[in-house]
Amino acid sequence: MKYKLGVVGDPIEHSLSPQIHNIFSKQTNINIEYQLYHVFETSLDTFIKDFFDEGGHGLNITLPHKSNCLRSVTNASSLVNLIGAANTLHSKHQDEIFADSTDGIGLVEDLKDKCLITSANVLILGAGGSASSIIPDLDACKPRNIIIDNRSKHNLDKLVQRFSSAKEINSSILTLESFNEEIDLIINATSMGFSGTFSWNKDFKTNNETVFYDLSYSKNDNQTSFLNWASQFSDKYFDGFGMLIQQAAAAFELWTGVLPETKIRKSDLLND
Ligand code: NDP
Repeated sequence: MKYKLGVVGDPIEHSLSPQIHNIFSKQTNINIEYQLYHVFETSLDTFIKDFFDEGGHGLNITLPHKSNCLRSVTNASSLVNLIGAANTLHSKHQDEIFADSTDGIGLVEDLKDKCLITSANVLILGAGGSASSIIPDLDACKPRNIIIDNRSKHNLDKLVQRFSSAKEINSSILTLESFNEEIDLIINATSMGFSGTFSWNKDFKTNNETVFYDLSYSKNDNQTSFLNWASQFSDKYFDGFGMLIQQAAAAFELWTGVLPETKIRKSDLLND
């Protein structure tokens, strides 16, 4: 059997997902065909329906389709219903398209050997789709507090309101303005990536052990602007490459039932 898989986005050429899944395929001896699909918003619904009607097994969904893909699914995990977005679709039966999200578990898995989330004060910078998608998995690790800050107050208030009132979330969800303790883990969930010099217009307290994590990642040794900034405060800073691999592994498991080995380096992708 050959699994028909792919990733859908606009743009999509930059995606490392085909290389990652081809490494998983070789490692597990599971036969896959994994393609990049450049799909515009206007063709998204038809594309997803046709892909699964024609025997497709699974899709990764990336920007800007993570929320809009939900129009085309027949069922979704409780996590997807909570965050309102998905990054993985799969179909085990005809006429069924199931939506799930592996971004949060990808982050938490990657953080396992980098810092302790339990009892930590976790600050998230950004209130967009990825901030929303990581909150439930961070919450499941029982942090001391989840603190959020964002450029636009409107989007910040919406996100805080949504998760403070969610019965599934047990942590206190606070804004940085109302918070005065030391932060143990700072996660950059903005889309600033490599643009210019990173800075944040509100102060927060850190200590020698504070870990800095950027959801953005580089394909080479270049550092993101957030990590350049973080390196003045701490030597514990990481980009989101590990999360990228972990979220892909969780998707591969949803499709095939097999969780692949995730010890992959950036150079392995360039050589694949
Ligand atoms: P969204 O577009 O949903 O959200 C963008 C966020 O960035 C918003 O909070 C926005 O603030 C903020 N922002 C944008 N520009 C600036 C700026 N100049 N200054 C301050 N804040 C800014 O993006 P996503 O949440 O989906 O993605 C964020 C990043 O996470 C991307 O770089 C993406 O590649 C990465 N990512 C990585 C993954 C991985 O596997 N490693 C998985 C998922 C995402 P405002 O509300 O004010 O507009």
